[in-house]
Amino acid sequence: MALTSATNLGPATALTCRECGHTRELGPHYACEECFGPLEISYDFGDVTRESIEAGPRNIWRYKGLLPVPSHVEETPNTEPGLTRLVRADHLAETLGLSALWVKDDSGNPTHSFKDRVVAVALAAARELGFKVLACPSTGNLANAVAAAAARAGIRSAVFVPSNLESQKIITTAVYGGTFVTVDGNYDDVNRLASEIAGEQDDWAFVNVNVRPYYAEGSKTLGYEIAEQLGWRLPDQIVVPVASGSQLTKIDKAFQELIKLGLVEDKPYKVFGAQAAGCDPVANAFKQGWDVFRPVKPDTIAKSLAIGNPADGTYVLDVARRTGGAVEDVTDEQVVEGIRLLAATEGIFGETAGGVTVGVLKKLTESGALDPAAETVIINSGDGLKTLDAVAPVVAPTANIAPTLDAFRAAGIA
Ligand SMILES: *Cc1c(COP(=O)(O)O)cnc(C)c1O
Ligand SMILES: [Zn+2]
Repeated sequence: MALTSATNLGPATALTCRECGHTRELGPHYACEECFGPLEISYDFGDVTRESIEAGPRNIWRYKGLLPVPSHVEETPNTEPGLTRLVRADHLAETLGLSALWVKDDSGNPTHSFKDRVVAVALAAARELGFKVLACPSTGNLANAVAAAAARAGIRSAVFVPSNLESQKIITTAVYGGTFVTVDGNYDDVNRLASEIAGEQDDWAFVNVNVRPYYAEGSKTLGYEIAEQLGWRLPDQIVVPVASGSQLTKIDKAFQELIKLGLVEDKPYKVFGAQAAGCDPVANAFKQGWDVFRPVKPDTIAKSLAIGNPADGTYVLDVARRTGGAVEDVTDEQVVEGIRLLAATEGIFGETAGGVTVGVLKKLTESGALDPAAETVIINSGDGLKTLDAVAPVVAPTANIAPTLDAFRAAGIA
């Protein structure tokens, strides 16, 4: 696994500790040698302009000059996620009393969740770093994305999920044919096991464990795309679902980078985090005014967000407080209501994480924490077809009739 001098990770220059600032060379490292804090990628960005980005491919590789990936990354075909729709959501806005709302619909990615972004970056870096197997502990969507990307790359995958996962997510992972292990425990148990396995299998890249610094940067592309799709502007406020907290903190990092590079105007924006009440360690810490969250045992239908001990939870608190945002949670009932509201107003069927985000959007609008006059973006991070059980008990056809006009008239639905 030695890094060769030929290693090409684009603009990435080093790994820097988030806690103590200690810097080390790029490589397969994820924890600080000095304090065990998480490592982040440092960069030396070259000449990145709006024009150079717009001339790039219609996927996340248009931002390769801002990511820790080889400069020729797009020449190795894989799943090419990104440039998902930013949908103007006027009906949902009107229902909630907002004046300008967009849904960033990441269910449009190759395996139907935002996880394809982080996996694409992790895979590109893992290949460059010499790993042989693409692996992960997952709450479901990451397993889908890793299994698919590894299949297309022609390498082995090994994914580990809690055994109580939604049946749709089990099937949509198993179909890709990699090594797939269900574990009798919750995500936090699976994550701990993955760290232990990574300690023995040193050519296994657990995308969100031992190559996490590279993986995490993939979420920046959500922030870049939102700004580009708004016409190179930042929104005033954004609502983001929180599992480990990586997506939220990296959207903020992306906005900061765009400001520093002069690609968008420097203006204030507020970042809001969304959790389910049955797994709300970050929302609870925010409301209590704590600097550090207390881990919980998850119990919610929003399984993709069911991380009781989120790796980036503390940094989510920092971003929400620094930007004037908040972290809020909603009950499982409100999650289901959120899924139905998004579907009925905008024709977008989100998974439970989307329901959490719409539910929190509604709750924060009603409480006045969100400014109804400000431009607002929410993330729909996954596809409702993967969490059908959440809505199956509460939706049904309007009527069942015989194939006759009389039956139609008698049903009273005209
Ligand atoms: C993983 C996931 C998230 C949150 O990701 P983190 O970066 O871990 O906070 C949100 N939505 C869906 C659908 C996910 O699968
Ligand atoms: Zn450190």
